[in-house]
Amino acid sequence: MERTPAPLRQALEEGDTLTLRQLLEEVHPQDLLALWDELGGEHRYILLTLLPKGKAAEVFANLPSEAQAEYLKTLPPWRVRELLEELSLDDLADALQAVEAEDAALARRLKEALDPETRAEVEELTRYEEDEAGGLMTPEYVAVREGMTVEEVIRFLRRAAPDAETIYYLYVVDEEGRLKGVLSLRDLIVADPRTRVAEIQNPKVVHVRTDTDQEEVARLMADYDFTVLPVVDGEGRLVGIVTVDDVLDVLEEEATEDIHRLAAVDVPDLVYSQ
Ligand code: ATP
Ligand code: MG
Repeated sequence: MERTPAPLRQALEEGDTLTLRQLLEEVHPQDLLALWDELGGEHRYILLTLLPKGKAAEVFANLPSEAQAEYLKTLPPWRVRELLEELSLDDLADALQAVEAEDAALARRLKEALDPETRAEVEELTRYEEDEAGGLMTPEYVAVREGMTVEEVIRFLRRAAPDAETIYYLYVVDEEGRLKGVLSLRDLIVADPRTRVAEIQNPKVVHVRTDTDQEEVARLMADYDFTVLPVVDGEGRLVGIVTVDDVLDVLEEEATEDIHRLAAVDVPDLVYSQ
């Protein structure tokens, strides 16, 4: 792993806030995460405080849950507020669950600070098991109706896009919210503007249920080569999407567990057991 880039390290050590802010405008959150482990606690705190809020949220979302809980306790209140606003709902729900495990009163206060709609969505998400699709999904998908024209959908997308986790796939739902079809952004863009969604949607949607095990979700994504899968409830209503980034995190954790399990195997036993 690369060592902390010299200018960043120097600015951190000198407490040169101005230079730090400039450097942090340019840095990619993943690059910071790559060197996170070699930073001291104080420098991590400074970075999380000085980063532009969107990047701070991206770094935060990738930290272990104990660290997240700690930062939500100790970061300045304005930064905590920004983090809560910037995080996508699935990451927000995970972070609040982490806090809840350690400090229920703080978790309650943080939830109360959310706007009512976000709070309701987060509470909904925290009902699901962590290792099932429901625990990985976010409700920030784009849903359209069969009867809409391509032109109407594109107009709708302009408004919906800023808050959506992804706009590459649009899901078609009926009046009960049941999942009826899917189309890609490409399908949409190449179609005649007067075409109805019903004519270009794919009605055979590969999907999972809220209680589908996360390993099964990962396998379906790999088999079908989809980067996003829709999640339905017991009645077939669309309730969220799982994106590949969350699934990759799952696979990484499981691979690490497997390696630890292998490493713990008692070799002499294996050798002499025949
Ligand atoms: P292509 O690869 O054919 O150029 P594309 O780039 O528009 O298509 P892809 O992401 O490759 O989009 O998706 C291919 C097709 O798969 C799209 O038409 C999309 O509607 C469909 N699709 C996306 N998600 C699902 C899903 N969960 N179940 C079934 N079909 C899906
Ligand atoms: Mg494609």
